[in-house]
Amino acid sequence: MISYMHYVYTIFEILIGLVFPRCCVGCGKDGISICPNCLSRSPLSTRNGTIDKDIISVFDYRHPIIREAIWLLKYRRHREISHNLGRILYDYLIEEMAERTLFSHFTDPLLIAIPSAKARRNFRGFNQAELLMRAIKEHDTENRFTIVPSVLTKKKNTPPQAKIKNKQARLSNLRGAFSVSDTAKVENRNIILIDDVATTGATITEAKRALLAGGAKRVIGLTVAH
Ligand SMILES: [Zn+2]
Repeated sequence: MISYMHYVYTIFEILIGLVFPRCCVGCGKDGISICPNCLSRSPLSTRNGTIDKDIISVFDYRHPIIREAIWLLKYRRHREISHNLGRILYDYLIEEMAERTLFSHFTDPLLIAIPSAKARRNFRGFNQAELLMRAIKEHDTENRFTIVPSVLTKKKNTPPQAKIKNKQARLSNLRGAFSVSDTAKVENRNIILIDDVATTGATITEAKRALLAGGAKRVIGLTVAH
């Protein structure tokens, strides 16, 4: 059912593209919403380490191209954007793992996407974090990362975090929201949690707590933007 709907939706997107030709919001290049050049040249996050040293974000969310990319990913499940962001996140991870002491002894990492509660998943079956996780894996020709779908689940349909401003309130909104469905899969493993945006870091902090309670060794977060 999901693959059938995905197919219909892809056809629909192609038709929409024919009727309303797209161009890059950064440089005006035809046929693409945001070109890979404009995406990769967007300003990097300067706030890494300010919320949590174990949460790293690639881009500055205040930049309009990044906001647009996140919007397309989140609300349109935009295939091209997720593919291009996957490439950027993959390259970023490889470089960071080589350079930063953050990753010392951080071997054979698993990639786990921040889940949505069921009601918030769209009919295509993936949320934006899962799309990103799968897009990173598409570029992982050396097989350095293992994706683990569906092991982290979100129990409660919590009020949207965007409506809650401070981190303490966000954390209590999420308390107990995540659980690990199969602890054998995460026990004693290093994990990279993937999400689209870190605002206060509360979502990653709470998901990390659930994974550590399930026996994970070390958990860090990687987001497209902050
Ligand atoms: Zn462009």
